Amino acid sequence: MTTETTPATFTQLDLISPLLARLTELEYSQPTQIQAHAIPCVLAGRDLIAGANTGSGKTAAFALPMLQHIFQQESKQQSHKGNFVIGLILVPTRELAKQVADSIRSFSVHFNGAIKTVAVFGGVSANTQMLALRGGADILVATPGRLLDLISSHAIKLDQVKTLVLDEADRMLSLGFTDELSALLDLLPKKKQTLLFSATFPEQVQTLTQKLLNNPVEIQLQSREISTLVQRVFNVNKGEKTAVLAHLIKEHQWRQTLIFVNAKNTCEHLAQKLAKRGIAAEVFHGNKAQGARTRVLEAFKSGKIEVLIATDIAARGLDIEKLPVVINFDLPRSPSDYMHRIGRSGRAGEVGLALSLIDNDDHHHFYIIEKKNKFRLEREQVEGFEIDEARNVPLLNAEKPMAKPAGSGKKKGPKYDDFWLNND
Ligand code: AMP
Repeated sequence: MTTETTPATFTQLDLISPLLARLTELEYSQPTQIQAHAIPCVLAGRDLIAGANTGSGKTAAFALPMLQHIFQQESKQQSHKGNFVIGLILVPTRELAKQVADSIRSFSVHFNGAIKTVAVFGGVSANTQMLALRGGADILVATPGRLLDLISSHAIKLDQVKTLVLDEADRMLSLGFTDELSALLDLLPKKKQTLLFSATFPEQVQTLTQKLLNNPVEIQLQSREISTLVQRVFNVNKGEKTAVLAHLIKEHQWRQTLIFVNAKNTCEHLAQKLAKRGIAAEVFHGNKAQGARTRVLEAFKSGKIEVLIATDIAARGLDIEKLPVVINFDLPRSPSDYMHRIGRSGRAGEVGLALSLIDNDDHHHFYIIEKKNKFRLEREQVEGFEIDEARNVPLLNAEKPMAKPAGSGKKKGPKYDDFWLNND
């Protein structure tokens, strides 16, 4: 189903009153498109494959009908409580696991403790999670590795799972979770409802779809519902990115800025360079201990940190309310990561801004990102940092692929273009 129709109200979606009351409190006045289309399918027990952009309200789209099913079952059965799980949500990152579980707990407040949601993920002690899993869980949100560990320690069983959600399925596969995922899928019952959400649909996701889903309803939202996200790209002289970045931050005085770079070291170096220019920035990357990652993220979410420099571990799914701007200091390797990064801003209809700084080495890659994501931006320059024509003219508006690296024509293997395009 491809759809652009106006969403109905939550009441029209047949949600039960404890959920409706909570949605009113959360000021969700109208379902987003993904919610309007997914909720009825999930309530009807159908399998679902949904292509929806990050920030489009995916969590509620699967969580609300799951909660409704589980609550109605619980009332009938007067509850179970062995060490099993009814609804399993697999996510690629620790932060996303926590965020999704927090949202579900928030949606559940009017069930008066009848629904137990647990999040399990690596990087923290497994003992606390084992304790939390005593007596089982109605909904378990998990990263695959830690979940397998907990299963082998007999902390939890998956044979009673009624609904499986794969959130950010493309990311799960590209992060190399394939083996863990198939080990988990083997432990799940054959008969279950499966919901697969992915912002992008590379080939591996399509294979997974065919293997996993039973006559699924397909929902593909045609365009980003949040059309309030403005993208801009600035040509920058080589070696001047930090100066331009500092200038933009000072000039615009954004309430908060999220800067993406490609390496953990770059996070640290850039933070030091910005500090010298009077800008305090924190860093968020995979080398930080989980406790520090959680603290930094919470501080950024609550507005205590104004500038955060992150690698792509922050690019997927994280919901930072009203984030005004995302800046690509380094371009992401894959075109789909570009979409995920910029999706941190302009969420849920808020106005957002995504800026990319590109120097001579980035022109061709940015062109590939545009081509793959089917958009095209005018190249701009930052006042006071105009391009040094003598150095940069030949590549300024490079629409054509850059010359192949010397000798590459002779080699067999992927073409230069394919190298980028296949790295989703
Ligand atoms: P998600 O894509 O699930 O991460 O949601 C993105 C953001 O949109 C979160 O801050 C949600 O709280 C918010 N959101 C989701 N659905 C709605 C809705 N129907 N009305 C208002 N805000 C929403």
